[in-house]
Amino acid sequence: MTAAYSPPRHLLAKLQRRLTQRTLARPATLRFAEPVLSITFDDFPASAAALGADILERHGARGTYYAAAGLAGQNGPCGRNFSAGDVRRLLEAGHEIGCHTHAHTDCAKQSVYDSLQEFAKNRDALAHLGVSAAVRTMAYPYGETTPALKCSLPPRLASARGVAPGLNVGRADLAQLRAYAMFGKPFAAMRQALKRAAKRKAWVIGFTHDVSEAPSAWGTRAAELDALITEARALGFLVLPVSDALERRLP
Ligand SMILES: [Zn+2]
Repeated sequence: MTAAYSPPRHLLAKLQRRLTQRTLARPATLRFAEPVLSITFDDFPASAAALGADILERHGARGTYYAAAGLAGQNGPCGRNFSAGDVRRLLEAGHEIGCHTHAHTDCAKQSVYDSLQEFAKNRDALAHLGVSAAVRTMAYPYGETTPALKCSLPPRLASARGVAPGLNVGRADLAQLRAYAMFGKPFAAMRQALKRAAKRKAWVIGFTHDVSEAPSAWGTRAAELDALITEARALGFLVLPVSDALERRLP
């Protein structure tokens, strides 16, 4: 997210959003031997790479960092954004770097071609920052996408994540995985969903931005992130980056 822009909230936009979510561009039936939790960080602020990664690593877990390379080094509403050093350290520790467009654009407000150009520009910029392996997952900025874009995702992207809450189990769309915000009201919903997800052996994805003792409105308090992972572990969840989680799906 950025403070300067927020997607339209009028009725038509809401209806389009619902239609987009219901259009399964990459339908899949997801089943897992164990419940799986993925913690993801969008944009991403430097604090997510420092304190956020520390908390995950203390639990022996790793996360997915959706980077918009055009925001690197800039100050945003969630604090200073990541640097090349953050990317290097995350990769060395085994975290995943995903795509979040280059300029953090609203993909529902531009052509498919422009979105694909954004993905390619981000891929090249991330390579320059030291991401040598292929980026295998993306998250749409603001969760915004279109049926046409979902159907046109490059095959190298095995998954794309939105922001609509829900469990990823049974019938799902790999072009718009469901995810809970780990801030505001949806965070409470995510915590409540964990027990349900454990029983169904579902894949739960959480997303946030900064991590600190006093986070922004779009960030997560360090103690709450720690408590969430502790609870998930007690319920038998594996905690894996998005692409590793996807590879755990049963045939
Ligand atoms: Zn974002």
